Amino acid sequence: MPSIEARPPSESDMTIAFYPGSFDPMTNGHLDVLIQALNVASKVIVAVGIHPGKAPLFSFDERAALIKQALTEQLPDAAARMEVVSFDNLVVDAARQHGAHLLLRGLRDGTDLDYEMQMAGMNRQMAPDIQTVFLPAGTSSRPITATLVRQIAAMGGNVDAFVPKAVLEALNAKLKR
Ligand code: ADP
Repeated sequence: MPSIEARPPSESDMTIAFYPGSFDPMTNGHLDVLIQALNVASKVIVAVGIHPGKAPLFSFDERAALIKQALTEQLPDAAARMEVVSFDNLVVDAARQHGAHLLLRGLRDGTDLDYEMQMAGMNRQMAPDIQTVFLPAGTSSRPITATLVRQIAAMGGNVDAFVPKAVLEALNAKLKR
């Protein structure tokens, strides 16, 4: 049995959760997980991973603005409890730097689960003070991936059902339609 860091919450304890990903761009699936996250944490830090050598469709600033707009459209009262940051280091190190002890990941299916279990296991060995929490995809957002949204939009398909309104407008503007 590996050691478990018991860290009982106190009343003054803010539960800060770290939600890492590419968010290129924010989809209804990401938004669904973010809203669930705001139900379990006092504050959620959405952490946009920056990968040198991998050109994103949207810049960090564009992605951050879209995440904020999407949440504000859907849940204006909760927007003050969400912050967007960028990171280019180990997720557990980045989470610690922001004072977060919860690491949130969304689960769509068994493929996500297999991969996420490996990551959660290795992260736990490296950082027993950071607790991974899995949040299940909603029925309608379960098939959505940002990669397919980019591909469908680039080929002129309608991604209205898969992304928040602000993202749909940004995609249309970026792809000049
Ligand atoms: P994608 O896999 O769509 O490119 P990211 O790499 O940005 O997305 O994923 C960030 C986090 O959001 C991961 O934990 C991922 O499992 C989760 N996620 C992505 N899409 C969905 C979805 N449709 N439903 C639930 N969680 C999702």
